[in-house]
Amino acid sequence: MSLSPRPRPGRTGVARRDAFDKGWLLHLSQRLQTKLQVEELIEVYATECAPVVPFDSVAFQYTDREVSIEHGTRQPHSCAYTLLLSDHSLGVMTYTRARPFSESDAASLELLTSQIVYPLRNALLYERAVVAASRDPLTGANNRANLESTLEREVSLAQRHGGDLSLIMFDLDHFKQVNDRHGHSTGDCVLQTFTARLSQCIRSSDVLFRYGGEEFVVVLRNTDLRGAALLAERIRQVVESMRVECSGKTVPLTVSAGVATLSAGEDAARFLQRTDRALYHSKTGGRNRVTAAA
Ligand code: GH3
Ligand code: MG
Ligand code: MG
Repeated sequence: MSLSPRPRPGRTGVARRDAFDKGWLLHLSQRLQTKLQVEELIEVYATECAPVVPFDSVAFQYTDREVSIEHGTRQPHSCAYTLLLSDHSLGVMTYTRARPFSESDAASLELLTSQIVYPLRNALLYERAVVAASRDPLTGANNRANLESTLEREVSLAQRHGGDLSLIMFDLDHFKQVNDRHGHSTGDCVLQTFTARLSQCIRSSDVLFRYGGEEFVVVLRNTDLRGAALLAERIRQVVESMRVECSGKTVPLTVSAGVATLSAGEDAARFLQRTDRALYHSKTGGRNRVTAAA
């Protein structure tokens, strides 16, 4: 079986399904099936296809997201295709190069693009499943299983390469009373409101997790104890002064926090335990306060 494409369609001709060697198309399809991550898929696709219909860059722009995935260096001439599956758009594939695309190039690219539609659909479904498995469905924060793996990784990186790693653990005060007074669905809405507000207070490098029912953890890279404690205190104040409006009711809300910074040689479990103990001190000390671990 030849793995090279047939000679390209003529300059003015329109690519037909037999414009490419069937063996090569099969090879392309098999290569694409080995990739489940969108980025890797686009890379393999670009590497296989650029020698066939020359292009310098190919970019996939998601329909439902701002981000696009680009491979190669963008050039002034472009050719774009919307990837449709049962009338649903997966996104737009854009090819660029320094010289214009001829009609037959465009037709060949269209044919090539059709080869990536199903592998891309699978990769997008996989991507969505991976994200869903790591998120808490109520608040959209990362879930506890995700915290465990993230923390293990961050702790070993910080222990190996240095750099301060801090944790803040939040626990909403008297949250049981919120449910008892206003009902569980109002409680859910309060949790969502708190998460949304907390997300606005942290940097993009900080990662938020829902640790338990009304308990949340923020992992802060390159942040010392003082910086983490200042942030926790700012969030405590924000929550205290926030107007939480749920199901037509205004719900007063306060939060307690514990803060700790990774010590030399400490493992993830012990680090989390120290943070939890600091939080416990905030609770026993009267709630609506921040305690930094010694
Ligand atoms: P403390 O100040 O000591 O933290 O008191 P608390 O009432 O917040 O603590 P406790 O652990 O006694 O109660 C936590 C409550 O959080 C009880 C539980 O029903 C509620 N909760 C946990 N998960 C959810 C959830 O997903 N939705 C709602 N509405 N409530 C939840
Ligand atoms: Mg709790
Ligand atoms: Mg609580």
